Amino acid sequence: MSKKVILVGAAGRMGQTLTRLLLARAEPDLELVGAVERPESPGVGQDVGRWAGGAEIGVNISSNLSTVLPDGDVVIEFSSPEATATHVGVVAEAGKAMVIGTTGLDAAQRAKVQAAAARIPIVMAPNMSLGVNLLLALTEQVARTLRERDFDVEIVERHHRRKKDAPSGTALALGEAAAKGFGWDLASVAVYGRQGLVGERPAKQIGFHAVRGGDLVGDHTVLFAAEGECIELSHRATNREAFARGALRAASWVVNRSPKLYTMRDVLGL
Ligand code: NAD
Repeated sequence: MSKKVILVGAAGRMGQTLTRLLLARAEPDLELVGAVERPESPGVGQDVGRWAGGAEIGVNISSNLSTVLPDGDVVIEFSSPEATATHVGVVAEAGKAMVIGTTGLDAAQRAKVQAAAARIPIVMAPNMSLGVNLLLALTEQVARTLRERDFDVEIVERHHRRKKDAPSGTALALGEAAAKGFGWDLASVAVYGRQGLVGERPAKQIGFHAVRGGDLVGDHTVLFAAEGECIELSHRATNREAFARGALRAASWVVNRSPKLYTMRDVLGL
């Protein structure tokens, strides 16, 4: 039996990529049955297949999640933090599974996701690609190997000019992974950019740097620099498909799991 998918943020960049991959049966057991957008979106009322540049499929983009929710098994959401924090409660109430790709949620919004995960299975990850999740695992491993060995960690990310949050959710996750490997608490060692006479760099610090421009899809580098040598772990996304393929893999995986907040590392078995 196919697992029925509802896309939230369906008219957006990720929504369109997900639609195209679902229609190409990239994950053969998933079927697109519903699509949702904010009421002001020009996509509302349009056929979601046509909106994504393909053929009509008979699924119109709705402005109300509650009305389409009964048709689905799993909701995939790539929208805004506010929308995600509201929708996660609605999905939990209906007892469906959820995949959250939206980034930039604040502490209160993340708490709503956490509360919902006591009732339904949710996969949430700031980056759904296989490559970045491997990079997360490698970063933690390298940091653990280098701890107490005088290597400085800096994280540089580059994204398109339309990205709203900075640093990227992926950069923050990489910072978490490095901090975990070093045995540090990220909040007390993170520095976001530098300007002016900041003085010498303390050893116990993780620096984040966000570059924005053009249509860059997303590059991340974790730099471990010591006296005389430097290790750089890098990942480059060349289009959005890697994120969308990961999200579809997560959607297929999460249906019928026990209620919990899972990450892509759970889905991919890393
Ligand atoms: P986008 O702006 O192109 O699309 C977002 C869509 O969500 C828009 O069409 C918008 O109208 C819609 N939306 C906003 N509020 C809504 C609401 N209340 N109900 C329904 N739809 C609503 O952005 P994008 O590039 O597709 O990215 C969306 C989110 O996904 C961002 O937070 C981005 O950082 C994140 N993202 C995550 C990954 C990942 O792998 N986890 C990858 C790429 C992007």
